[in-house]
Amino acid sequence: MPDTLQAEMAARLAKLRADYLASLPAEMATLQSLGKQLVAGKAAQPCLSQLHHRLHRLAGSGGTFGLAALSQQARILEQQVKNWLSPSLVEETALAPFVEGLEALATTIKQAEVPVNFMLRAREEEVRDEAVSIWLVDDDLLLGQEIARQLESFNYAVRLFQCLADADTAAANAAPDILLLDVLFEQERENATEALSEFSHLHALTCPLLFITSHDDFASRVRASKLHAEGYFLKPLDVPRLVCRITHLIDQRRAPPARVMIIDDDQELAEHYCLVLLAAGMEVALLEEPTGLMTRIAEFRPELILMDLHMPDFSGPELAGVIRQHDNWASVPIVYLSGETDLNQQMAAMDRGADDFLNKPISDLQLVTAVRVRVERARQLAAQISRDGLTGLLKHSSIKEAVDIEVARARRNGAPTSVVMLDIDHFKEVNDNYGHAVGDVVIASVAMLLRQRLRHSDIIGRYGGEEFVAVLPDCDMKHARQMMDTLRERLAELKFSYDGSEFHCTISAGLAETNKHPECDGEALLMRADEALYAAKNGGRNQVREAV
Ligand code: GH3
Ligand code: MG
Ligand code: MG
Repeated sequence: MPDTLQAEMAARLAKLRADYLASLPAEMATLQSLGKQLVAGKAAQPCLSQLHHRLHRLAGSGGTFGLAALSQQARILEQQVKNWLSPSLVEETALAPFVEGLEALATTIKQAEVPVNFMLRAREEEVRDEAVSIWLVDDDLLLGQEIARQLESFNYAVRLFQCLADADTAAANAAPDILLLDVLFEQERENATEALSEFSHLHALTCPLLFITSHDDFASRVRASKLHAEGYFLKPLDVPRLVCRITHLIDQRRAPPARVMIIDDDQELAEHYCLVLLAAGMEVALLEEPTGLMTRIAEFRPELILMDLHMPDFSGPELAGVIRQHDNWASVPIVYLSGETDLNQQMAAMDRGADDFLNKPISDLQLVTAVRVRVERARQLAAQISRDGLTGLLKHSSIKEAVDIEVARARRNGAPTSVVMLDIDHFKEVNDNYGHAVGDVVIASVAMLLRQRLRHSDIIGRYGGEEFVAVLPDCDMKHARQMMDTLRERLAELKFSYDGSEFHCTISAGLAETNKHPECDGEALLMRADEALYAAKNGGRNQVREAV
């Protein structure tokens, strides 16, 4: 997050804290007037439940803003009122201590100072379409150039250095996405940690660090682990496997921000949570008025819903019930944020479709961590259902669905959208000559190439064994052809190795575009692309054909 934005968030949080402090005396006055009604014996049920609601809220918000004593005092008073609420009977003997408790709370409020909350470090990585930058340090110039060339066919921007000192100088002004070292372990340095710490700029980099080395002994691996290496690759280097790891690491870092919806009637508190999650790099939607719930959910597509358990007009479980009635949202995680300590109520709420409870008060860091962990888990689950394990691409049914949606969209708005059907040439021979495992590496490499070379907005799937489909929104036939031809050439240059021998693979592709076939829906367009692919195969393979 840029400094200016971070400063703005800090200022907004500071203002929230100040506003909260400023609101406390008025809140206390209301509590005291409700207390007086109680003492005068005029307290009816509505007065009691208002008192309960306000004390409950104060206990929660006080904790959130770091006012532990206030929160605790309010919590004790809340318990007392709760006992009176049912069976709606105020015990005379307990009244005096309750009024004293209110007085003590008022004193605490007069002296209250909200501690300055820490700001959370925001995610710096934005979702970008730029090439991933890799710095490779290799003292063997020829080998370094060869690795760089192969990585470049995956569309990585590679910068080659011959020694750590050169890379260190560069790191003073720039930073790569990945640091790849083919030195350090080759120099027989006893202490690699020390060796790297001599280079302060390199040492300060926060990107993933990977090693290429010929040392396969345990001690060397431990040394790499001490440096927090996220990859350890033995020579001769298996580039496709390296690319696989790099893709995975970059995916993790470039994952889109989590989308969290907050449903809470306490506006200040909700805004506080909102700012905390925003500062942590998430996207947040605030819902104070639950009647527009389903429309907002459909627009925002939350990956997690944080919900207050008690709200004046609807209870959390009631709203959860409404959300669960919709098939599309039957599995979105719902987490209650509640000061509720009553286990039975929590259980009852869980029965109504909630997934978890977070107890108020909750610290900023706890909130962010809890949300992040749950969103990650939900994403993993969703990925297991829709994504292919070997390639990480969409599975057959999901890519077909994506083609239908994108083609329908293109037909509505008239923008060209291209559909690609792609197949590895003579793939059976790869399996026959080198084995199924090597065949898998080839499939994964083609998938990786597709992901690296296409745009972020393009959608790619593994259609069958060694067959892929991609939808390229806002991309006409001419551009699709250019992209596919480049991809085809890069793949042909890529060297696969097996047991000392090397081999190459090629692909054939068929293209179809919405504006050339305006009569076609998704399925029909896919068929056109498939016919073009068939023509490419008949035409001698290693080529791209357009649908006629
Ligand atoms: P063509 O150029 O006409 O496409 O020839 P081909 O050999 O690639 O085509 P064919 O469709 O006959 O062969 C595809 C082979 O891919 C058959 C199947 O055993 C293999 N295959 C399918 N899925 C996988 C997989 O997940 N891993 C591996 N290693 N092989 C697979
Ligand atoms: Mg094939
Ligand atoms: Mg095939």
